[in-house]
Amino acid sequence: MSLIVQKYGGTSVGTVERIQKVAERVAATRDAGHDVVVVVSAMGKSTDVLVDMAKEITDSPSPREMDMLLTTGEQVSIALLTMALQARGQEAVSMTGWQAGISTEAIHTKARIQHIDRTPIDKALSAGNVVIVAGFQGVAENGQITTLGRGGSDTTAVALAAALGADLCEIYTDVDGIYTADPRIAPAARKLARISYDEMLELATLGAGVLHPRAVECAKNYKVKLTVRSSFGHEEGTIVEEEADMEQGLVVSGIAHDKNIAKVTVAGLPAKVGTLSKLFNTLAAEHINVDIIIQSSYENETTDVSFSVSGEEVEKTRDVLEKQRDALSFSNIMTEEGLAKVSIVGAGMITNAGVAADMFSCLAEAGVRIKMVSTSEIKVSCVVPGDKVEIAVQSLHSAFGLDAKEKAVVHGV
Ligand code: ASP
Ligand code: MG
Repeated sequence: MSLIVQKYGGTSVGTVERIQKVAERVAATRDAGHDVVVVVSAMGKSTDVLVDMAKEITDSPSPREMDMLLTTGEQVSIALLTMALQARGQEAVSMTGWQAGISTEAIHTKARIQHIDRTPIDKALSAGNVVIVAGFQGVAENGQITTLGRGGSDTTAVALAAALGADLCEIYTDVDGIYTADPRIAPAARKLARISYDEMLELATLGAGVLHPRAVECAKNYKVKLTVRSSFGHEEGTIVEEEADMEQGLVVSGIAHDKNIAKVTVAGLPAKVGTLSKLFNTLAAEHINVDIIIQSSYENETTDVSFSVSGEEVEKTRDVLEKQRDALSFSNIMTEEGLAKVSIVGAGMITNAGVAADMFSCLAEAGVRIKMVSTSEIKVSCVVPGDKVEIAVQSLHSAFGLDAKEKAVVHGV
């Protein structure tokens, strides 16, 4: 008997009717002779609704209480889905993160999974149940309830698949796979049949919202076979695996964008050993994720450092640095908001020179100014003005030969 882990996102369990549909699919998988563990997100936009309610009460809710609040969303959907399965005559049991043995770091709102004790799930499976697990949550050693960061249910699913040695992890969502670009922005985008873990990890990290980056990282580390497909239809999705023989001849496999980027410049730092270490350790200690880093000339006694952060973290970044102004001894901080990051990703870049140059030429022709650049073996990212993101994605999509002949079909968005 094989074991399949299925994960259904918020839209897929957005209404009672949709939950019935999911129950139908889960029961069919079980009837086909598989053991099934299901991970679900909160219904529809209910996590956002909870966040908004908290914001109405205070600008800075305690992270512990945020976790307490947000984990309720998944508790609703696991119970309803389990009832729907039971009503169909399928034995099923729901489990919160802690009941399912999911232990995390003791960090609120963005904990990482540290260990999964498979005993409770194994027991429930051997008793003939389908097991329905709340995504995005766990418990820390100190007994506190934690969450894994927004979108973290994907990570719950992949981590469970790894811990249970599942044969397959299926991520059911509202799009039918991974596209060469976001079809809402690039109408010529196409669905990919396969993509490698490395490319998927870049795309997910760079803003392709379909999969949580940590889920892809975990899939790669534990070689979990992953598919992304729609819960609204029966089309084959995209397979994410070790080596994907990508569309032949194409250097770029996909284009990602992230609309909410800010640039922070810390000016007048002492140009001496240890400056960068102090600066970035200060940010890391506060869990601020820094992306592109640029240090300008080092000839004088001082140096300027610019880096990009998510638009949501600008305020916090500023506060954290201001508090350490004396220790870091800089002269001032400047921030620029409303930027976007556009990235091209492709395993083919390793063996092809001049891809970055092609990207810059394409953006120049489209009249897009480039503010920051970063590269890795398989990606080039440019930070550009936010209002240029659409034209940038569309131009790159066609310049790198990704345009489809027909318009992409997007479900449920
Ligand atoms: N419900 C959580 C969120 O909206 C987790 C998830 O959906 O993956 O972020
Ligand atoms: Mg998601």
